[in-house]
Amino acid sequence: RSTASIGIALFTDRREVVDELLKRADLAMYEAKAAGRNTLRFFDPEMQAVVTARAALEAGLRAAVQKEQFVLHYQAQVDSSGRVIGAEVLLRWQHPERGLVSPCAFIPLAEETGLILPIGQWVLETACRDLAEWSSQPQMAQLALAVNVSARQLHHAGFVTQVLAAIECSGADPHRLKLELTESLLVHDVEDAIAKMRALKAAGVGFSLDDFGTGYSSLSYLKRLPLDQLKIDRGFIGGILVDSDDAAIARMIVDLGASLALDVIAEGVETEAQEELLARLGCHAYQGYLFSRPVPKLAFEALVAAV
Ligand code: C2E
Ligand code: MG
Ligand code: MG
Repeated sequence: RSTASIGIALFTDRREVVDELLKRADLAMYEAKAAGRNTLRFFDPEMQAVVTARAALEAGLRAAVQKEQFVLHYQAQVDSSGRVIGAEVLLRWQHPERGLVSPCAFIPLAEETGLILPIGQWVLETACRDLAEWSSQPQMAQLALAVNVSARQLHHAGFVTQVLAAIECSGADPHRLKLELTESLLVHDVEDAIAKMRALKAAGVGFSLDDFGTGYSSLSYLKRLPLDQLKIDRGFIGGILVDSDDAAIARMIVDLGASLALDVIAEGVETEAQEELLARLGCHAYQGYLFSRPVPKLAFEALVAAV
């Protein structure tokens, strides 16, 4: 049994080049396939704009990797006494024309194209170098750095070796490095994820489950993953004071953490009232604009010195 996906482009102008016309029909055909196949789509200029923008972004990202146009910003994580206990490193693209570009604008494409592998390695190496540098500064030596790792990175065959190499080359204390994973890694090959997490954990590296509660949370996997921390997604923190469902979910995550012997940290804490409620629920670690926005390294070091 065969089905057809059909792309249609209108031939409106005699001067039009045949190649161009076929390209449009081809684009429309891919749209038909993306829409579930066995259907048809007419070309519209919007399709062209999306494809062109994507190609430009991809070319820009490739150049950015070569020219090392990335920087890290550091967002403080604090305990209930307000003491800075570490930071999450957040990637920014220092674009020559567009200025600082948010990771939301390029991480998905970096994952799709595989560029997340060299980019992610650079993030890891930079964070490890920071840890090594701070280890000789009394005020900074106790801090932990949390690094976001995408599913694509984790499932790459060389992942464990590369993390260990970054630690070894820099001389960082692996106990100060925490990798943030999201539940999306549970969708493919959980066994692979567990084996790699175990190997890194044996070397002292910690793990946090980011954006917890938003994805496909399987409690049976949760029990098997060698995690250290659950990170309550900021989507629940935003409504925690006004939405009883959000508050109930936050409470549930704190209780779950307690019963599985996992730390719990809340992200996106913006007001004192949110912090107080979280403390009452039993959550004693926080990250959010209330304490600090993500800032460049020097500003983060100044923040730690000031507290
Ligand atoms: P995430 O890991 O969940 O990071 C938290 C995001 O929440 C950050 O956005 C941070 O700036 C923002 N945030 C923190 N506190 C508050 C707050 O109080 N209010 C509000 N409204 N927002 C807050 P950012 O820096 O834009 O990063 C977005 C996402 O990009 C991250 O979400 C993470 O998934 C991804 N990302 C960032 N850096 C990396 C990286 O090095 N590697 C990978 N694979 N992903 C990264
Ligand atoms: Mg994160
Ligand atoms: Mg998060």
